Amino acid sequence: MDLVAALRRLVADPDRVAAGQAVREQHGQDLSYHPQHLPDVVVYPVDTREVSRILAFANEHRVPVVPFGAGSSLEGHVIPVQGGICLDMTQMNRILEIRAEDLLVRVEPGVTRTQLNRQLGREGLYFPIDPGADATLGGMVATNASGTTAVRYGAMRQQVLGLEVVLADGRVITTGSLAVKSSAGYNLTGLFVGSEGTLGVITGITLRVHPLPEEVVAARAVFPSLDAAARVAVGLIRVGAPVERVELVDALTIEAVNAYKGTDYPAAPTLFLEFSGSAGAVRDGVETARELAALEGCTDFRTETDPQARQRLWEARHHAALAITARFPGKKLMVTDVCVPISHLPEAIAHARATVEAEGLTAAILGHVGDGNYHAIFTVDPQDPTEMERAERVNAAIVDFALARGGTCTGEHGVGLGKRRYLLREHGEAVALMRLLKQTLDPHNILNPGKILPEG
Ligand SMILES: Cc1cc2nc3c(=O)[nH]c(=O)nc-3n(C[C@H](O)[C@H](O)[C@H](O)COP(=O)(O)OP(=O)(O)OC[C@H]3O[C@@H](n4cnc5c(N)ncnc54)[C@H](O)[C@@H]3O)c2cc1C
Repeated sequence: MDLVAALRRLVADPDRVAAGQAVREQHGQDLSYHPQHLPDVVVYPVDTREVSRILAFANEHRVPVVPFGAGSSLEGHVIPVQGGICLDMTQMNRILEIRAEDLLVRVEPGVTRTQLNRQLGREGLYFPIDPGADATLGGMVATNASGTTAVRYGAMRQQVLGLEVVLADGRVITTGSLAVKSSAGYNLTGLFVGSEGTLGVITGITLRVHPLPEEVVAARAVFPSLDAAARVAVGLIRVGAPVERVELVDALTIEAVNAYKGTDYPAAPTLFLEFSGSAGAVRDGVETARELAALEGCTDFRTETDPQARQRLWEARHHAALAITARFPGKKLMVTDVCVPISHLPEAIAHARATVEAEGLTAAILGHVGDGNYHAIFTVDPQDPTEMERAERVNAAIVDFALARGGTCTGEHGVGLGKRRYLLREHGEAVALMRLLKQTLDPHNILNPGKILPEG
């Protein structure tokens, strides 16, 4: 069968079906250590009908389909390990409706979060989930993304009210409603959020949005040890301070960021904080943070109120992973993503640091510690089996530690290829139920095959 010719007959403009080497390479990899694998063809649908026609065709001919947003996921999610069709969703990028009075929006999946926020800002609103990368909202739904603001707003699952989804056989369904709550039937919205393109292709999203806060203050606090910084993060959550972001970065990350961004932050463990709400609540929150930080030997505590200065500070934080990659040219990223109950956070971070050092590896440690989620970031050479083995060992030890304390192997990045090996340990018999769901919704296993579920 001539796949390209067949697909060109299914879309309105045949130029939106591309099979050149460069475009396939761009859609066959991510920033991570997972090996590249090219799709046979890349299609750019512009509406739900086209997605539906493509899926019905792929289902009939048993061709794998991998949805693709911005390609910023970190566990090989978008790598088409069995080839087939890459469905690049970025041309479905219309903001369909802003219902300011209901605090919700309807968007297509290729809208990026910064695109949405530019538009919302004009109405005094914003969409707070911020994974750092300029991801598409479809990709963020599909990975249940969160990021720096999860401590206040949770993850995508808490923000999605409803979805339009094209199923593997081309049927189109809608889930949820415009109401902020519902008890009507099974929670299918919750099922598709985090399904990583393995259960259906998301073509429409209804999201909650939020009023811009009256006052926002960012702060940077420098500590003598990672432990001390982690204890302050936990303390801030326990006292109920109005924090919107609580980010921890270690000295290695700060050094990398300084080199990458030209900043001159002290190269020591640091908390990046943001407080938002009413002016009084924010002022009290900052003072509480200052006091807690002083008790843990904080050597420098600075606040920023100017929006541009705040943006520079958060840009530095958000570029941390890129800064670390730039420091080790030619190497690829391996990132742990465990999340633990907040009371275990300081010991989890101390354990991660000790495990990394015992293996003689270099890893930056940073994370959204306000919700117990942190990352150890290794740069590895996938061609060096000894280095890979050591990194995998540390990765597994960090996951074991988190699971033993009731945590999870992935707080926000998702499973993709890289975390499949931990799923059985985390969920046990429930993995069999996940397999049944996958078989029911995608009996021919065409949707992003080889992801999430462990082999066997
Ligand atoms: C520097 C950096 C920092 C990051 N920080 C964070 C962070 O703090 N928090 C966080 O959560 N993530 C973070 N990430 C990871 C990444 O940004 C998120 O996983 C993001 O949600 C992926 O969105 P995307 O549009 O790039 O999706 P893609 O990477 O293109 O796709 C991700 C998955 O979603 C599926 N998918 C995409 N679109 C659809 C659709 N329309 N329907 C069905 N399935 C679809 C794909 O098949 C794939 O399985 C970071 C990444 C980078 C590079």
